[in-house]
Amino acid sequence: MLTILKEKAFLKAVILCLVCIIVYFFFLSQTRFFAVPRFKFADLFSVVSYHTQPLPPNVDTIKVIIVDDASYRILKKSWPWPRTYVAALLDKLRPYPPKVIFMDMVFAGESMVPEYDTIFADALAKSGNVILAAFLDPRGRYTVPFDILAKNALAYGLVNKPRNPDLSVRSSRLFIVPYWDTKPYDYSSEIKILCQYLGAPLKDISYDGRHVVIESAGAIKALIPVQKDGVIPIHFRVKLNDLDPIPFWKVYNDQVPPETFKDKIVLVGSTAEIFHDVYHSPIGLMPGVAIQANAVLMLLNGDFISYIPKGVEFFLLLGLGLATFLFVYFFPPSFALLLGSIETVVVLGIGFIMFQHNIRFDYFSAVFIIMATYLGNTIYKYLSLWIENLNLRTLAITDGLTGLYIHRYFMLRMQNEFERAARYNLFFSFLIMDIDHFKNVNDTYGHQQGNVVLKHMSQILQAQSRKTDFVARYGGEEFCAILTHTNLQGAVNYAERVRRAVEAYEFPYKPGKPLKLTISIGVVSYPQQKAEKMDGLIEAADKALYEAKHGGRNRVCAADADQGPALESGQK
Ligand code: GH3
Ligand code: MG
Ligand code: MG
Repeated sequence: MLTILKEKAFLKAVILCLVCIIVYFFFLSQTRFFAVPRFKFADLFSVVSYHTQPLPPNVDTIKVIIVDDASYRILKKSWPWPRTYVAALLDKLRPYPPKVIFMDMVFAGESMVPEYDTIFADALAKSGNVILAAFLDPRGRYTVPFDILAKNALAYGLVNKPRNPDLSVRSSRLFIVPYWDTKPYDYSSEIKILCQYLGAPLKDISYDGRHVVIESAGAIKALIPVQKDGVIPIHFRVKLNDLDPIPFWKVYNDQVPPETFKDKIVLVGSTAEIFHDVYHSPIGLMPGVAIQANAVLMLLNGDFISYIPKGVEFFLLLGLGLATFLFVYFFPPSFALLLGSIETVVVLGIGFIMFQHNIRFDYFSAVFIIMATYLGNTIYKYLSLWIENLNLRTLAITDGLTGLYIHRYFMLRMQNEFERAARYNLFFSFLIMDIDHFKNVNDTYGHQQGNVVLKHMSQILQAQSRKTDFVARYGGEEFCAILTHTNLQGAVNYAERVRRAVEAYEFPYKPGKPLKLTISIGVVSYPQQKAEKMDGLIEAADKALYEAKHGGRNRVCAADADQGPALESGQK
C-alpha cells in the first residue's frame, strides 16, 4: 500500500483527480448548466421532507383570504375590481381586528373612479393595520401604491421574490438597497408583517450587516440572518391547502364567523386562474400568497435554513472524490461500483438528516463528483489497460533490433497465407534473403557495426515493399517476405529491386568511407511451385537461395518445380 502511494502513476492520477474537482467546484458548478440540476436536486429533499414531516407550528396564526375563481365568478367578472370591494373586506374584518392584514395586490396608480380611492384610503386609515404590496419591476424601479393609499395604509413593503435560472422562487429579498447606497432603502412586506405582529414599531427595523433586526423598547424581538443583498432562502413547509384558505366571497357575504381573524396575520391574495399569480417552488406550483405565507411562517418560527460554509463543502467534495478514486484504483469495477453506491447513499442519508435540522449542502455536486470520478477513472483504467495490451502485442511480434516481424509471427502468417491460397485458388510468392559475407562485417568492423547494417537492411526492405507485403526477420542476417497476390515474375521483379537497392546502398561506417554489401535472394511462387504443406515451399525457397549463393552471390534465384534447376537473374 505504502509503495503504491509513492508510485508516480498513482500520484499523477490523484493530482489529476484533485484538479478536476477544483475546476468543477470553482468554475463548472457556478455555470447555469450545473446550477439548475443543483437546485432541482435540493428540491427533491424539500418534497420528501414536506411529505414526511408534520406541519410547522403557527400555521393557525396565518389566515389566508383568496380571490379565487369562485369569488371572481360570484362577485364581479371584470378586473380590476373596484377598490371599494377591498375596502368592504376591511370593514368586515374591523370589529374583530387581526394583528396585521397584508394585501398581496398592487394598487399602483389612481382608480378609474377617484372616489373609490377615497373610500379605500378611508378604510385603510380606519383599520390602521393594513400593509400593502410594493414591487420592483424588471428594470429595478420600485413601484409603490397610489399616493393616498400609501399614506393611509400602515405601510407598504416589497413583495416580489427573486427567481432562480429555472424561474423557480426559492428565496426572498428582505430589503432593497439602491445602487447609490449601502443602507437598505425599504424592507420587505414579510418583515413588516412580522414586526407589526410582534407589536414592534416599523420604523425600528434595522440591518446590522448580517441580520435584519426587529427591536421594541430597546429589546431585540427578532434577529433574521440574511446574505449581503438581503436575500434569505425561504423554508417551504406548507402548500396553499395546508393553510385552509378562505374565499374572498365568503367573507364578503358574511359567511365566515368574524372572530375567525381576531389577532391573526391575514394575507389576502389571488389564486384565480386569470391572474397568473402562480410560481414554481421547491415543493410545487403555488400562488404568490402561499409563497408569502411560507416566508412569514419561517420568520415567525425562526425556522431558518443555513448552508455549510463553502470551505467545508469544498473539502467534503474533495474527500468524496478521493474516496471514489481509491475504490476504482484498488478494486475491480463491480466492487468499486458497490462501494461508490454505498458512499452515495451514506452521503445523501447524512444530507437528509442535516436537511431536517435546517443545514444544507450541495447534494447534486456530491453525487456528481462520486459518479464522475467513478466513470472517469474506470474508463481511464480500461483505456490504458487496452493500450498497454496493444503495445505488448506489438512488442511480442516485432524484432527489437530491426522493427520487423519475428520468425514465429512470420510462420503464423505464412501458414495462414498458404491455407488461404490453397483453399481459394489464390497465388502468392515467398522470398528468403541472406546478406552476403555478413560474417566478414562482424569480424572486420565488430558486432555493433553488424547491427547497424541489419537495421539499415530492414529499412531498405521496408522502403521496397508495399503495404500488403509482409516482411520479417527470418534469422540472424536473413530476411523473408510474403507477397500476396503476386506471381513468380512479380516476385522476381521485387527481388531484383531489393538486390539492386542493397547493391547501391552505402551503409554508414566512417565519414567518406561507407560499407558496401550485397544480398542473395531465393524466390518461390505458389501454386506454380507445387507443395502439400507450407514447409515444402520454404524448403524450395531455401534451395533457391542456396543456388544463388553457389552461383556467386548478389543474385536472385527462383525455384521452378517444372524446370528442375532454378532460374537465375542478377549480376554475374
Ligand atoms: P554468406 O551468407 O554469404 O554465405 O556468408 P555469411 O558470412 O553471411 O555467412 P553466415 O550466414 O554463416 O553468417 C551469418 C553471420 O551473421 C553469423 C553471425 O555472427 C551473424 N549474425 C547473426 N545474427 C546477428 C546479429 O543479430 N547481429 C550481428 N552483428 N551479427 C549477427
Ligand atoms: Mg546466413
Ligand atoms: Mg549470409
